Amino acid sequence: MNTNDFPCRRRSIVVATKNKGKAREIAQILSIPQIDFISLTEVTSDDYKVEEIFNTYYENALLKAIKASEATGLPSIADDSGLEVDALDGAPGVISSCFSGVEGDDEKNIQKLLNLLKDEPEANRTARFRCIAVAYFPDEEVILSSEGVCEGKVISEKRGTGGFGYDPVFVPEGYEITFAEMDLALKNKISHRAKAFRLLRRKLIDFLEI
Ligand code: IMP
Repeated sequence: MNTNDFPCRRRSIVVATKNKGKAREIAQILSIPQIDFISLTEVTSDDYKVEEIFNTYYENALLKAIKASEATGLPSIADDSGLEVDALDGAPGVISSCFSGVEGDDEKNIQKLLNLLKDEPEANRTARFRCIAVAYFPDEEVILSSEGVCEGKVISEKRGTGGFGYDPVFVPEGYEITFAEMDLALKNKISHRAKAFRLLRRKLIDFLEI
């Protein structure tokens, strides 16, 4: 079907991340022809930042979405995610990005994780990435949300150079390679984020009746 076959007006939705790669990845998964997905970097200043103050993914994702809508006057989409390790009772979870105490220091976060797990046999190294995605429509006062999970295990040494965060030590279920060794297109098919945003896409289409 041609885009012009849709009688409804185009809408803009801001994707609440400063990470251009992530914004592109989300827009690609959502790819709804009637919606322009706008990156926050296009519409906010360099010092725009939202502290993730809550201890649930949902509240942090919603906070990021609400702040993005307040800053832009547009509906918004946001997500929050983390790695949950069974042997650590679900840690690092919602504090994944600052597990080592230094926000966004992937290397330190991984070293702390591997240290904590150093005596755990392979069978005890099960883990999952979880992502909560939300869409926020301020005018309609509507919140849509979805969840995606990718099961796997944490290996004992880093492997691979792709991706970000804990990718070099996470092997998804059904694979022998880490997220960091995987083709990005494959990761984007099976990841927690891809699953959450595919589900959100269906909810958006229903809500917007497109
Ligand atoms: P956020 O949802 O982008 O805030 O991600 C929080 C943190 O979780 C990141 O800084 C990473 O440490 C970790 N994380 C989330 N998704 C991934 C992923 O796909 N690969 C590796 N680490 C991830």
